[in-house]
Amino acid sequence: MSKLQKTLLTASVTLLGLNGCGGGEGVEGPAEALPAVAQGVVAQAAPGCLASDVDTDGDGVCDVVEAQYGTNPQSTDTDGDRLSDYAELFGSGGVNLPALGANARRKDIFIEADYYANRKPTQGALNRIIASFANAPVSNPDGSTGITLHLTLDQQIATADEDLDLNPVWTDFDTIKAKYFAAARAPFFHYMLFANKYSGGTSSGISRGIPAHDFVVTLGGWPTPGGTELQQAGTIMHELGHNIGLRHGGTDNANYKPNYLSIMNYEYQVYGFTVSGTANVFDYSRVRVASFNEAAINEVAAFTPVAPTTEADLAKIGGLRMVNVQVAGNASANLDMNANGSIQTATYARDLNRDGSTATVFPASQHDWLALVFDGAGTIGDSALGTSRALDREQTFLVAPEKVEPCLTADSVVAR
Ligand SMILES: [Zn+2]
Repeated sequence: MSKLQKTLLTASVTLLGLNGCGGGEGVEGPAEALPAVAQGVVAQAAPGCLASDVDTDGDGVCDVVEAQYGTNPQSTDTDGDRLSDYAELFGSGGVNLPALGANARRKDIFIEADYYANRKPTQGALNRIIASFANAPVSNPDGSTGITLHLTLDQQIATADEDLDLNPVWTDFDTIKAKYFAAARAPFFHYMLFANKYSGGTSSGISRGIPAHDFVVTLGGWPTPGGTELQQAGTIMHELGHNIGLRHGGTDNANYKPNYLSIMNYEYQVYGFTVSGTANVFDYSRVRVASFNEAAINEVAAFTPVAPTTEADLAKIGGLRMVNVQVAGNASANLDMNANGSIQTATYARDLNRDGSTATVFPASQHDWLALVFDGAGTIGDSALGTSRALDREQTFLVAPEKVEPCLTADSVVAR
């Protein structure tokens, strides 16, 4: 896609007014098709490449140099994080990604975080989420597992520029972003703002769509203004989750699904899970759980794994919550789903997703980490660099972000 095409698409997406966190009625599905990708010319060959050198994938890094760095000469993006090999090896557009720690053979996500003076998140909160991504069950071409989350606090917003209620949220957000975020970073970075409130409410934060490249964390109206470390950490990862394609039900917007073990599920946003005995681990779903019927709850059997997830995988996960209460047991067995202090052998019905029915059947859940979308709805990735992007990459540019509803509010926390 040319820069012009991309600019036009970005403009049309903006005009659609896609503001959001979680709900379902937004624009979804492919927008109208854009012209086929032009086979352009690489602006500049990589250091070490001669004009005559073969560049099979046309990404500006000739095959000889790809061999030196161990990148794939047949892929413009060896590690699949939507940052091109060229940009990760040599920088692009004035942004020196390698100096910032980019690795062309391991997935990277870059986030610039700015904050209001009294809304600065703790380093402990950031470290929790960096660790969660480092522990991600995602494999890389360099043989490692995990994702490197480059999550750094950049600037404090000047007091005069603090807008205590972002309203309309993205209009006011853009005023701040225009001043504090370098436009050259846009193809590579998500932008996160630690603000106070938006739209006059107490929602914990909002993502600019699913997927998207912008999000805000707004814990100003919570009982501890600005949030506790756990609330900050969980909200960062939850809103970032929307940025990288996750919904409240994983693949759909159905919240509180008991068999969806992810902090995208409100039940877990500010608590996380207990994993192998460690409490408050913030994680997207790393297991697949079979369909579950709340009309026939069997506490002894708990949840059933879907391959390749095993019973042993489920058994590591504790700290489960049912209707706002943490319950004993683990996801594999002896799970006290009605929190009455004992494991019942007889089956029973309970409204676990708070929808007024005790007969909901929840579909099998997804493995979130393998479903992430790294391209920020087409905005992340230096699309102008390569000359022969695969069509599947271009297609992701045609999917408009989805409109979403406000995320978890303070009320639900106060009620706890
Ligand atoms: Zn949400």
